[in-house]
Amino acid sequence: MSFALHGLAVSHGIAIGHAHLASHGTLEVSHYVIPARHVEQEIARFDGAIDSVYQELRALKESAGASAPSEVAAFVDVHAMFLNDPMLAQVPREIIRERRCNAEWALVQQMEQLVDQFDEFEDAYLRERRQDVVQVVERVLKVLTGQPRQLPPRRKDGANVIVVAHDLSPADAIQFKQHQIAGFVTDLGGATSHTAIVARSLNIPAIVGLHHVRHVVQDDDVLIIDGTRGVLIVDPDERVLEEYRLRKSELELERSKLKRLRTAKAATLDGELISLQANIELPTDIPQVKQVEADGVGLFRTEFLFLGRDETPDEDEQFEYYRSVAAALKGKPVTIRTLDVGADKSLRGLERNEPNPALGLRAIRYCLAEPQLFLTQLRAIIRASHFGRVRILVPMLVHAHEVDQTLMMIRLAQEQLRAQNVPFDEAMEVGGMIEIPAAALSIGVFLKRLDFLSIGTNDLIQYTLAIDRTDEAVAHLYDPLHPAVLRLIAQTIEAGARAGVPISVCGEMAGDPAMTRLLLGMGLKQFSMHPMQIYEVKQEVLRSDVVELRAKVGRMLRLDDPDKLREHLERINA
Ligand code: PEP
Ligand code: MG
Repeated sequence: MSFALHGLAVSHGIAIGHAHLASHGTLEVSHYVIPARHVEQEIARFDGAIDSVYQELRALKESAGASAPSEVAAFVDVHAMFLNDPMLAQVPREIIRERRCNAEWALVQQMEQLVDQFDEFEDAYLRERRQDVVQVVERVLKVLTGQPRQLPPRRKDGANVIVVAHDLSPADAIQFKQHQIAGFVTDLGGATSHTAIVARSLNIPAIVGLHHVRHVVQDDDVLIIDGTRGVLIVDPDERVLEEYRLRKSELELERSKLKRLRTAKAATLDGELISLQANIELPTDIPQVKQVEADGVGLFRTEFLFLGRDETPDEDEQFEYYRSVAAALKGKPVTIRTLDVGADKSLRGLERNEPNPALGLRAIRYCLAEPQLFLTQLRAIIRASHFGRVRILVPMLVHAHEVDQTLMMIRLAQEQLRAQNVPFDEAMEVGGMIEIPAAALSIGVFLKRLDFLSIGTNDLIQYTLAIDRTDEAVAHLYDPLHPAVLRLIAQTIEAGARAGVPISVCGEMAGDPAMTRLLLGMGLKQFSMHPMQIYEVKQEVLRSDVVELRAKVGRMLRLDDPDKLREHLERINA
């Protein structure tokens, strides 16, 4: 009998195949007491298992290759970090020695302690890391109990396999990709779980959070994953199968057609040249930026170098990190954003108990309150400017004095470097992010002081509509098409054009092809987005006439009614 299940759509695309039920985790372990004379041997067995998983993870990272998305390396590093942490690598040894428990039992006891601590975190992202701890422990237990992880066998009939599991680790997702598994679905998992992130970056259709899928699906059932809608169809009839086969091949055709746009200039029908740049988080994102021929890096979020470690990176480490990106882009602009921590991203050891972190000491506010840390980063960025076309971008500005203090800090860093005869680009541009409504409404202050501006629509929407972007409970109120948001964006772009100051958009709106024509009609000429989105946005640019769009968008901006606004946008996009 055919039926459908709904879960979280975490990785787009369609997969059709036969179910393979993955075995459950191995947290059920035997408990026994070790004779005193065997304690050291048991500890050695435990150490050996930790080491073996460590090697497994390294091998996995290597086999994923340099071209694998940065998330893959990042997740392996997170799991390796948990594995190295004394809480997992040392405390179970003490339990073995003191309580004479067998290694598996000692490890599970310690894991339960850690999981309880993770459950108490208020931050959803940190809470989800609990699952990473469980997955690392499961790997170690598999080694201890001598049950190697088994991949689904290839089917004799050559049909696709879809893995159905209670939960999966990101490592499983990577192995699936290598074994050409068509997709996967799980009971557990959230949109920000590493498994979801890895699936997305590897382009494997997947649905998580289906609750009871492992119980209701049987081995060999025919499944359709509609990864765009988050729908799993079990045992579909021939008509539905046919429809999905057709949609799947249409999607594949669209994707391969889009690849042909790689070297096409992003010019509108009336000859306006549009710059399509990439947002990156790590230097390992650069191969993808080059592959899609982005016009540069419009946003380099530097906080990923600082997160998840005990010490902040020193000037030389940061310099090397920024230099590698600047040099790799060979003269194309690389816009390095200064540290945007606070809110949902805290530096280890500096977590503060703020009543309202999104409105607290975040981004430039944090940097100005920590001048040594800020100066170190500025010096590293300025040094990197000698090796490419580096620009500095300052997040979350709202006051003129924040710009003035930042520019003063930049001048100080430059003077220090000059005194040491360190070369740098004297003409390096400094820009600011417009992501607070007050900044958009007093734009003259920023236009006067800065070389360029970039609109961060993610935060601009959050602060305009008073919606915490990390809170699922209000996610449905997060609306890029709210008239207030549209007017703030349009006014900023227009003010920039009048003052001759380049304006770009680097929030998620820039990478959404449904918004491309709207932004072009507002006069936007620079977009920055995830590299994977560049082709789709370019396709919209190529079929647009800016003069025509300007008139249509002008009329749209006079509307207040949300339904009319949406209808108008549909007509603009038709
Ligand atoms: C934004 O706010 O739109 C933005 C690009 O910055 P982030 O998402 O890093 O806050
Ligand atoms: Mg932002």
